[in-house]
Amino acid sequence: SGILATSFIILVILSFSFWFLIRTILKQKTLEEMKSDFTNNITHELKTPIAVAYAANDALLNFNQAEEKTQRDKYLRICQEQLQRLSRLVEQILSMSMERRRTFRLHPEELSLQEIVERLVEQHKLKAGKPVHTSTDIEPQDLTVLADRTHFSNILSNLLDNAIKYSNGEAEIDIRCRRIATMEQGEQTEISVSDRGIGIAPEKLKHIFDKFYRVPTGNLHDVKGYGLGLFYVKTMIEKHGGSVSVKSELGKGSTFTIRI
Ligand code: ADP
Repeated sequence: SGILATSFIILVILSFSFWFLIRTILKQKTLEEMKSDFTNNITHELKTPIAVAYAANDALLNFNQAEEKTQRDKYLRICQEQLQRLSRLVEQILSMSMERRRTFRLHPEELSLQEIVERLVEQHKLKAGKPVHTSTDIEPQDLTVLADRTHFSNILSNLLDNAIKYSNGEAEIDIRCRRIATMEQGEQTEISVSDRGIGIAPEKLKHIFDKFYRVPTGNLHDVKGYGLGLFYVKTMIEKHGGSVSVKSELGKGSTFTIRI
C-alpha cells in the first residue's frame, strides 16, 4: 500500500503541474491576444487620420489658381481636424506611459468652463459625422477650474466622444457645471456630461474605468475604440485631486460626473 500511496501522491503532483502549465499557457495566450488586439486597434486609429489628411493635402496640391477659396478652405479644415485628432491620440498614449514616471507634471491654470466647453462642443459637432444636439448649463457663467489645460480638455473630450459614440443615431447631450459643497473636499466644481445613448448594464459599470476594458456587445466593433479613454479620464482627474463617477441605465443613457 506504500507504493500505491506514493504513486497516488506523484499522480496528484503531476496533474497539478499539468493543470498549472496549461493555465499558464492559456493566460499567456490571452495576454498575447490582448497585446495584438491593442496594436491592431491603435494602428487602425492612427492610420485613418493620416490617410484623410494625406488625401485632403493631395487635393490642395492639385489646386490651381482658378479653384474657389471655399473649396480650398474645406480641405484645409479637414487637414486641421485630422491633425488635431492625431495629436490627441498620440498625446493620450504618451500621457499614459508618462504618468507612471516621476517626471510627470501638471501645469494648472484657471480655466473658464464656458470657454472650454463651448470650444470642445463645437469641435465635436464638426467631426461627429452625425447630428449632435447639446445643451450647456453653467452656473455661475464665469465658473472656473484650476486645472492643466491640455489634460482637462482631454478629459472632457473623452466624455463627449463617448456620449456621441454610444448614442445610436442622433446624440442628445446635456452638460452641466456647478459649484458644490462636499463633506470630504469642501467646495468643488462638478461637471456632468449626460447622454441618452445605449447605457451600460449595472454589472459592467465597475469595469469601465479599467485599462483596455470595453463592454462586450454584439455591435461592439461598429464603434471604434481601445478601452483607454475612461482609464485616462480616471487617472488624470485623480492626478488633479479630483474624481469621476458614473450613473447609467441600459437603453436609457449615462451620466459621467467629474469633481475637481
Ligand atoms: P472606448 O470608448 O475606446 O472603448 P473607454 O475607456 O472610453 O473606451 O470606454 C470603455 C467602455 O465603456 C466603452 O467601450 C463602452 O462600452 C463603455 N462606455 C463608455 N462611455 C459610454 C457611454 N457614454 N455610454 C455607453 N457606454 C459607454
